Amino acid sequence: MEKYLLYINGQFRESSDGGTFKAVNPASGEVIAEIAKATVEDTRAAVDAARNAFDSGIWSELPREERSRIIKQIVDKINENARHLTGLEVADSGSTLKKAGEDVFLSAKSLNHYSKMALLDLNEEVEGLSKPGVSKNIVRREPVGVCALIIPWNFPLKMAIWKLGPALAAGCTVILKPAMETSVTAMELARLIDQTDMPKGVVNIICGPGSSIGTELTSNPKVDKVAFTGSTEVGKTIMKSAAGNLKKITLECGGKSANIVLDDADLETAVDGAIYAGFYHQGQCCEGGTRLLVHEKIYEPFVNLLKEKIERMKIGDPMDKTTNVGPVVNESQFNSVMDYIRIGKEEGAEVLTGGKRYGEKGYYIEPTVFINATNDMRISQEEIFGPVVTLIKFRDDDEAVKIANDSVFGLGGAVWSGDDARALRLAERLRTGTVWINEYHLLSDRAPFGGYKQSGIGREFGLDGLKEYTEAKHIHIDEIKDRTKKTWYAVVVPQDNGS
Ligand code: NAD
Repeated sequence: MEKYLLYINGQFRESSDGGTFKAVNPASGEVIAEIAKATVEDTRAAVDAARNAFDSGIWSELPREERSRIIKQIVDKINENARHLTGLEVADSGSTLKKAGEDVFLSAKSLNHYSKMALLDLNEEVEGLSKPGVSKNIVRREPVGVCALIIPWNFPLKMAIWKLGPALAAGCTVILKPAMETSVTAMELARLIDQTDMPKGVVNIICGPGSSIGTELTSNPKVDKVAFTGSTEVGKTIMKSAAGNLKKITLECGGKSANIVLDDADLETAVDGAIYAGFYHQGQCCEGGTRLLVHEKIYEPFVNLLKEKIERMKIGDPMDKTTNVGPVVNESQFNSVMDYIRIGKEEGAEVLTGGKRYGEKGYYIEPTVFINATNDMRISQEEIFGPVVTLIKFRDDDEAVKIANDSVFGLGGAVWSGDDARALRLAERLRTGTVWINEYHLLSDRAPFGGYKQSGIGREFGLDGLKEYTEAKHIHIDEIKDRTKKTWYAVVVPQDNGS
């Protein structure tokens, strides 16, 4: 069986107490790897390595071209090992083969984009307060420093890259902590990075429990920034823990996004889109369209077609190319999703389709849709993070906006309509970070992604995402050489008033 070690200061090590944990395939229950489980002591060693690497300037002071070249080496390594990484992602996370293949491809593509962003000169000269010509004002973008990157289990490799890419492009050093449920591809990434020219200590990768090593990372005063993706609940804990030395934080948290189908939408497309929005990766997507709002005029045909199409989906072995629905990530997630299905029934919503475990082996749940639901039910307000969609009927566009915005979250959402102008008007009224029109889930390396309200703080991707890993420094160079002409001269030097 494969054994993965911690990656600290360019060395692979056992954990300080020799502890390990097992990676389990959620489709079969088989153990696929053993992974060193970091202790607080190991975490401190990783932070020290990142701190020393940052302070030495071996990464932050490298010419931009050199940083870009080394990041590109990682891209090449991912591409060379794409098949292997895809297989591991399926076995470790229960992703379908198609989704895992896409994730690996998109990880390389995204990192390639960051290798180009590393070349950008973000420094600029701006106009000062005083008249032009009397001062020069430079705004420099400098790396924020040592970053703790904490990621969840639903897109393991992609999430690692989405954080590593901008952090490294900006010149930061990092400690990456994947979720224990899915640490394998992050540990493979450590092996790949070790084969590049990346200076030692710039990238450190350690696995272990959030409650111990996550807390150490977020409270350690040698860490300058925490970039976190995960649940809103843990995001709030991290805010408190990071307050000690006022770390910069970006939080990408939960969602309960509204997927709005207007009466003029193409029915087939909207139904397919609703399935994609709600059930992609078994619904384990933060931005998933888990509240499906359907116009009353098309409600009957929409619901009938939705049920028919969902019941034709193939549930089963994620390694089978024709599988649409794989297992959820583990037993505890399985139990939590099944609990919500029970809660939905108790709240009075009706199961249109699904609602049960599928098969006897592996953590499979039938794609489930609740109808006759209201927006105040727990199944409409809380993030279930599994294959469960709550369908709510609405009367007109105003009501759709009201329901959509009646949520503590604000991450994603969509509008399906035959009229782009009408859809756009509606999109502009939604209090959420991303709105798709006649699409879902697609993110761009160039456009910001992040949450309103309790879905998060800060943005990933694009220039906004890169700047999250920088500090802005203003340098004012005064060009007035005659001290008596300085704007403040009369304030500090006693003046002869002539009397
Ligand atoms: P989680 O919040 O339980 O864990 C996320 C990460 O935080 C893991 O690595 C975990 O070990 C670590 N962690 C846990 N407690 C910690 C603590 N006290 N201090 C520091 N780190 C700690 O989330 P999860 O169950 O792994 O993932 C599912 C959640 O992630 C969902 O809520 C989902 O919406 C969210 N998510 C959000 C986005 C986004 O971009 N907004 C993307 C994917 C997932």
